[in-house]
Amino acid sequence: MAVQPPPADQRIVIENAAIATVDAHDTEYARGHVVILGNRIESVGNGPAPAWLDNVVRRINAEGHLVTPGLVNTHHHFYQWITRGLAQDNILFDWLVALYPTWARIDDRLVHAAAQGSAAALLKSGCTTASDHHYVFPKDGGDILGAEIEAVQELGLRFTALRGSMDRSKKDGGLPPDHAVEELDAILTASEEAVDRYHDASADSMLQIALAPCSPFSVSTRLLRESAELARRKGVRLHTHGSETAEEEAFCKELFGMGPTDYFESVGWLGEDVWMAHCVHMNDSDIAKFAETGTGVAHCPSSNARLAAGIARVPDMLAAGVPVGLGVDGTASNESGELGTELRNALLINRLHGTPTALTARQALRLGTMGGARVLGRHNEIGSIEAGKLADLALWKVDGIMHSSIADPVAALALGALPPLAVLFVNGNAVVENGRLTTVNEDRIAQACARAAKELAARPI
Ligand SMILES: [Zn+2]
Repeated sequence: MAVQPPPADQRIVIENAAIATVDAHDTEYARGHVVILGNRIESVGNGPAPAWLDNVVRRINAEGHLVTPGLVNTHHHFYQWITRGLAQDNILFDWLVALYPTWARIDDRLVHAAAQGSAAALLKSGCTTASDHHYVFPKDGGDILGAEIEAVQELGLRFTALRGSMDRSKKDGGLPPDHAVEELDAILTASEEAVDRYHDASADSMLQIALAPCSPFSVSTRLLRESAELARRKGVRLHTHGSETAEEEAFCKELFGMGPTDYFESVGWLGEDVWMAHCVHMNDSDIAKFAETGTGVAHCPSSNARLAAGIARVPDMLAAGVPVGLGVDGTASNESGELGTELRNALLINRLHGTPTALTARQALRLGTMGGARVLGRHNEIGSIEAGKLADLALWKVDGIMHSSIADPVAALALGALPPLAVLFVNGNAVVENGRLTTVNEDRIAQACARAAKELAARPI
């Protein structure tokens, strides 16, 4: 059952909190309040909430807490929750070749378990909106997209499900094995059905669909072109992996006679309705093209480090005006599965370029909130704490032993250990309390994921 929005006339008051709104002026309050009315933010400001408020069902004294917008995850592969800890020391292409045969044996039941594991890890680390790029659809796998969506809705996470695809297998010069890919026509039909069945374009939407052919080395040129046409006809967004590794760049040059960004441009894949994961190997011209067209980037620092892919030029992208958000990426290449820790990892990894101001704590928080909201096309509805926006909020406890001596609460979040999550509101509902899910028993999820991982590992190839 999907989590329902709270009654529209019901108020929740949060007071005495440090607040980082991440609005256009980076407004912060050392001791302020946020009022939630129904599923939206009614007001935010300095000092206590107005005294006249009625129908207050909950009043939170958030002394010692930092309130931020809920974090937004722009790239993930939920199904990988049950294939973590494998191929530990490989670059991307070798890692993919090692894992494809296992992934090609998944089905809807296993994906349901894995999606709950991934969504739980996101919620427990402050994420209120996530996208998930699912691109493995074995022939006898059942209703995988439906299972994934149902799993996420039970936990109450705001969701963009990406109907992914692969149609370029080994026999066509691609990387995936032949049995792991689908036929182009079947992909387009299933993509259109997914949009018709699930996509909710309303401002309050808890579920959107985008189309997401997997990568230049696993999909045909025709699939890229026709997916873009379909997405634009249906009014949904487009996503793929781009410029992740040096090997991908070499692959594109050999097969298409140009680098990944030029290739994407040639097939209509640059634009405000497109975002790409990684974008590590980008030259000045690539960054300029992303900026000119408003093409977004999902920066995945931990995954890039895990696969030794390199360091994305995030400071240069931001300076050029490229929309950038953060992503966990699939948990087979980022076993932690936490989005909150990506703030710190993004900050640290980008400073390895040698510039101490490459990414500040507040810029890291902005990437993880408004940056992600913009990349998902939802910046008018989520990503900052402003009156009228959806009530997606994280209350971080920063007065405990790990954080009480850090002078600045935003630095406590972006430079310190990930603070305990006191409450996480999604759409006005408290879906995490004291670090635990409120919607589904998380011990049951843990057991189901362990069983699913064992079952998948034991399936014959
Ligand atoms: Zn990925």
